[in-house]
Amino acid sequence: MISTKELRERLLKERADLLAGVRRNIEGLSAADRVSEDEQAQRFHDDFVRLRLSTMDIERLRMVNEALDRIQTGDYGICLNCDQPIPAKRLQALPWARYCVTCQEQFAKEASSDSEDLLEYLRYPLAQ
Ligand SMILES: [Zn+2]
Repeated sequence: MISTKELRERLLKERADLLAGVRRNIEGLSAADRVSEDEQAQRFHDDFVRLRLSTMDIERLRMVNEALDRIQTGDYGICLNCDQPIPAKRLQALPWARYCVTCQEQFAKEASSDSEDLLEYLRYPLAQ
């Protein structure tokens, strides 16, 4: 079974990767110089996608930080919703998991409309 120490190392690595990714995305944002209308629309779209991706990375970063906090306080691996232990297999796949599978599925159902909006946008970027 994977140890908390290993999971902590994975979380620290994930945090470093996420930070690097967010930094890259922000540096990639378009400079505010003069461009044609067409190019502006394209740039706006690129920036939008970058920001949305960064938002998701920042959200995960928050989860990673919380997981590291929970390791410190000894609450790690316990579902925040139902207080049941989260199976080791799940933690191995998703070290920042906050909920057990049952609770997560319940939340995913409630939250799914939001990510579907994003997918829709990515598929039809410039549709009105
Ligand atoms: Zn639960």
